[in-house]
Amino acid sequence: MSTFSEYNFAGQKALIRVDFNVPLNDKMEITDDTRIRAAIPTIKKILSDGGMVILMSHLGRPKDGPTDKYSLKHLVKHIGKLLGGKTPVLFANDCIGEQASMTAGMLKPGEVLLLENLRFYKEEEKGDEAFAQKLAKLGDVYVNDAFGTAHRAHASTAVIAKFFPKGKKMFGLLMEAEVNSAEKILHNPQKPLTAIIGGAKVSDKILIIENLLEKATDIIIGGGMAYTFMKASGGKIGGSLCEEDRLQTATDLLKKATEKGVCIHLPSDSVIADKFDAAANTSTAPSNNIPDKWLGLDIGPNACDQFSNVIHKSKTILWNGPMGVFEMQKFQHGTKTVATAVAESTQKGAFSLVGGGDSVAAVNQFGFSDKVSYVSTGGGALLEYFEGKELPGIAAIRNS
Ligand code: AMP
Repeated sequence: MSTFSEYNFAGQKALIRVDFNVPLNDKMEITDDTRIRAAIPTIKKILSDGGMVILMSHLGRPKDGPTDKYSLKHLVKHIGKLLGGKTPVLFANDCIGEQASMTAGMLKPGEVLLLENLRFYKEEEKGDEAFAQKLAKLGDVYVNDAFGTAHRAHASTAVIAKFFPKGKKMFGLLMEAEVNSAEKILHNPQKPLTAIIGGAKVSDKILIIENLLEKATDIIIGGGMAYTFMKASGGKIGGSLCEEDRLQTATDLLKKATEKGVCIHLPSDSVIADKFDAAANTSTAPSNNIPDKWLGLDIGPNACDQFSNVIHKSKTILWNGPMGVFEMQKFQHGTKTVATAVAESTQKGAFSLVGGGDSVAAVNQFGFSDKVSYVSTGGGALLEYFEGKELPGIAAIRNS
């Protein structure tokens, strides 16, 4: 497998799969450009080598072919701006076909071509070989920098790799950073390794907890999902979130953890509310003794200390999912406290990775994104990675 940084792109057309699936408002303006910014170093390195860049991505979930709302043309200007305003960014209003191949063919070193939305073709998500081959013809080298879609075996994320010889397919800088960070946790992490798992649903996180039971020293469980575990252990949880059909799963996970010597930490107390509302009346209670009709919406003050102590002793930390309803001010203290502890531990030398939609949003909202070792751009992809699955986008490059 070639390394992106060592490769000289001079005179080469690099076909890069990026994840430019950014949110747009009614005026077709980008409301969060994180995903585009994340790919800029990869693009810049190719251009500065004297190479040409062809960008391909999906945007949204178009159902019936080309739709203005999902056109990548809305991104052209902004990409140019992020590249410094001097790089020509061309646009092909199809990702395959005559216009795409002609424009790609005429591309000069230092230029960028953005192809139209890959998902305007059903073949993309189906992983169609003929479609992948047509895309492949546009470039000399294939670069995958779309970690956010690495868990999909789509034409442009995985299948396409087979049409490039060894040495002409590689991860981009973002993908490399994502993979390296995840591997620091999955392979030979410095111990103690603590996984902090939060969010709403146990059902979404069962596989990740199961896989981490093989690796972690401690697993902290917070957020709404903690109450299913509390109830499974005989606690009274009032009206807190509970997945009744997962009580047995929770019991099994707790048992497995004991067998494997992994310490599971559930919040000893909770901030409780008389309704799910930003203006609700609040109090605190032991998490296993919440009064009827009250619901646990954040970890309590004792749990904050309990979790912080574990985090401070850790050398490697993975954090996925908030500790409470952090979107409401009254219930964000737990998530903030955990973010602070992760930042402090990082400062003392621990490696910390934050990933998965809402914990990333929380870390950004509270201003901690530059105080942790790595903030992942992958939601579903990161979860699947930590579930122990081989991601097709990674395997396609590594194993061929
Ligand atoms: P997830 O997407 O599963 O990571 O869940 C994130 C969501 O879980 C956020 O929108 C939080 O508001 C929500 N959440 C966290 N803790 C609780 C809780 N105790 N009760 C209800 N929702 C919660």
